[in-house]
Order: sequence, then structure tokens, then C-alpha cells
Amino acid sequence: MTAKYDHDAIVIGGGPAGSSFARVAAGAGMDVLVVDKRKEIGVPVRCGEGLGSMDMLKQGLGLPRACYSTEIEGAKVYAPNGKSITWKGKDTGGWVLERKFFDKWLCELAVEKGAKVHTYTRAAGVIKDAKGRPQGVRLSHGGKEPYDVSAPLIVSAEGMESMIARELGFKTVHSLYDVDTCYEYEMKPYDHENLIEIFFGNKAAPRGYVWIFPKADKKANVGIGIGGMVQNGKKQGGLMGADPKPLLDDFVKKNARLKDASTLLDFGGVISVGAPIDEFVKDGCMVVGTAAKQVDPIHGGGIGLAIDGGVMAAGTAIKAHEKKDYSKAVLMEYDSIWRKEKGPALSNHLKLRKVLEKVSDDDLNHVIGALAKEDLDKVMAGDFAKVAAKVLAGRPQMIGVLRGLAP
Ligand SMILES: Cc1cc2nc3c(=O)[nH]c(=O)nc-3n(C[C@H](O)[C@H](O)[C@H](O)COP(=O)(O)OP(=O)(O)OC[C@H]3O[C@@H](n4cnc5c(N)ncnc54)[C@H](O)[C@@H]3O)c2cc1C
Repeated sequence: MTAKYDHDAIVIGGGPAGSSFARVAAGAGMDVLVVDKRKEIGVPVRCGEGLGSMDMLKQGLGLPRACYSTEIEGAKVYAPNGKSITWKGKDTGGWVLERKFFDKWLCELAVEKGAKVHTYTRAAGVIKDAKGRPQGVRLSHGGKEPYDVSAPLIVSAEGMESMIARELGFKTVHSLYDVDTCYEYEMKPYDHENLIEIFFGNKAAPRGYVWIFPKADKKANVGIGIGGMVQNGKKQGGLMGADPKPLLDDFVKKNARLKDASTLLDFGGVISVGAPIDEFVKDGCMVVGTAAKQVDPIHGGGIGLAIDGGVMAAGTAIKAHEKKDYSKAVLMEYDSIWRKEKGPALSNHLKLRKVLEKVSDDDLNHVIGALAKEDLDKVMAGDFAKVAAKVLAGRPQMIGVLRGLAP
């Protein structure tokens, strides 16, 4: 440990990003403290819990049976007119997780490598030196008297809240245009085919979609995410908020397989669907996972990206620790690697999201009707040209909208 500090790194947030950072950094000998304001890691769950198997395979971690509810083979995507396309292949598998066990397992892996974890501990502020460089964090356990803990490196893995990241000077404020507001029920009974189901339609889910993620014992996570600027909500202080719950209720009522199902859990949340923040590091600090808006703009998935971000950041932190130099210049390596490896795919997905939000239900019916499974592979890989040509062959009037996919 660095002599004058209590720890080598303080990680704020024990979600997938923070735990993954801590596992790798502690595994290389760093003294890492993880704090999370929740009383229990992973609880309460606010997530659809879908995770692609490719996301985990590349980490070489395996996945204990208790951490997932169902194995899924792919996805079924529904057009507004009810027609669907099934996306199933060797790379489309994954799981619907039990995040309350998954998040805790990731955190336990960090503890096994030597990281310390303190739950029910909120980071309330940043301690800075005379030059404004972070030196530690002010913590409070269970709302009690705050105390200071020092480290040469502060890692914000705070998820959407990102309050400490903002205090560190990062631009983590979300514009309504670039968030989706979500609502979800866990429901039972629901019969499924080991596929996640995605329902598009401007009336059903404006600038978003409804999802049904199957769980064991005939349960399912049934949720909706809609554009934060969609004006279907109540006027509050002159602003019209997007309210996804009535739309989800409407979907459930109209869905013959769900209308008589019970709800076992319900919650709301917001997720970033915009671009990542413009810098992930400054002197003595890093931002990882959803706090850095490392989220897929097409579907709002951020678990796999949070794990990747945490691992990449830790790789650089280890080098900084060896050099005893936590300057921005050294920490920038993580920023560059992330943008090189993840940036192009996510920027293509953002482009696609912006095109999809301009597409009418009639167009969506045509697009989903015209596509084959191979086309979806291409679209998700950011290879739009051939698929756009195929769509245009049957619907040339979409040329204006599809121009948005041009390189
Ligand atoms: C409704 C909904 C459905 C979703 N469905 C999916 C899905 O199916 N698949 C998918 O991949 N992604 C999904 N996501 C996104 C996913 O949940 C996040 O991207 C993922 O959890 C990000 O991990 P993280 O570690 O960056 O942040 P988080 O998991 O949010 O963890 C951040 C942690 O930081 C803690 N924290 C915050 N501030 C402080 C503080 N000041 N002091 C101490 N602790 C603090 C929090 O308590 C939290 O435990 C969904 C999101 C929502 C809202």
C-alpha cells in the first residue's frame, strides 16, 4: 500500500463494474476498498437481468448455477403488427440472471482476491488537496457520523447516480433525450421458449420496446423502456415526464399469455442510451460502467459492458500503482483501450437507435418482415449497408431515414 494513504484505491459502488475492477486490481496486489450504500450487494434488483454468454465467456469466469435463472438461446423480435423474427445462432445465447446472486458472487470474487467491501456505506463527498487533486472520500456508514478514508485513486462505479463522479469533474449529467425510463414486473405464470422477446411499436413503447425475459418456474421479467422525452406522463413543474407504467399495463392487458398472470415484484428505473462520457479519467480518478455511460444505446444493456469497463480500468490502475503515478497521463491508457475496443460498436448502435426512433410503425412492420436472422447478425455488428439495401428494395420511401446509417 502507498505509505501515506489508507488504501491504494477506493471504489464507489459494488455493482458489476466496481466488483470487477476490485477483483482484478486486488488480484494484482493492490489494497482496494469497495463501498456500497446498499445494505446488501445486488439488492434490490432493478434490472431485466439479460446477459449475453459472449459477455461472460471472454472474462473466463464461468457462471455458477445459482447466478442465473434460465439459459436463453436467442431472441424473438416482434413488429407492431405482431409478426416476429427469431434470432438464434451460435453467438446469440445467454442467460436471464438472478442479479441478487450474480452481483454478490462478483463481489465475493473480489473479496477472495483480497479486496475489502463495506456495505451500507455511502460516499458523500471527495477529499481534495490544495491543487484540487482527489485524495480520498468522505464516507458514512448507515447515515452515521461521516469519516474520511484516503487513497491516491478514486474509482466511480456508481451506476446512473454518479454523484461522486460529478464532484470529481466528470460530465455525467444525463439529458432526457439520452435516457430511457423503465418499468418492470416479475410475473407468473408465463410459458416461454427459452428466447427473450422484444416488442417494438411507437404506440406500445415510444422510442423503446417492451421486453419479456423468461425465468425459471414459469416466471418472466416483463418490462418496458421508453424515451425520456416521450410526453405521455403527468405535467410536473411545467415539464412533461415519460411514464412507462401505464404503457406496460396496457401491454400486459392486451397480451393473451400475460393478462391473467400475477405480479411478484414491480419497480421503475432509468438507463442511459446515449454516448459514453467524453473522458473516463482525470488525475487520481477513473469512472467505469454505467457511471461512464458505458451502456448499449440499442437495448440499454450495461452489465457486460460494466464488467469489461471495470477489468480494463483495473489493468491500467495496476500499471499506475506499479509506477506510483496516478496522473491522468498514465490513467489515459484505459480511456484509449476502451474507446478502441468498445467505441465503434456502441457508436454504430447509437446511430441505429437514432434511426429507429424516426421509423413509423408501418416502416417497422416492413423492416422486421423483410429481415432474416443473418441480417440481424449484420445489423448488430454495425454492418448496415447490405441490410439497408434489402429494406430499401421493398420500401424506397425509407431512404431519408436510412441515410442516418451512412458511415
Ligand atoms: C429497468 C432496467 C432494466 C435493465 N435491464 C438490463 C438487462 O436486462 N441487461 C443488462 O445488461 N443491463 C440492464 N440494465 C442496465 C444495468 O442494470 C446496468 O447497466 C448495470 O447494473 C451497470 O453496472 P454498474 O456496476 O456500472 O452499476 P450498478 O449496477 O448500478 O451499481 C452501482 C452501485 O453503486 C452504488 N452507489 C451509487 N452511488 C453510491 C454512493 N454515493 N456511495 C456508495 N455506493 C453508491 C449503488 O448502490 C450500486 O450498488 C437495466 C437497467 C434498468 C434501469
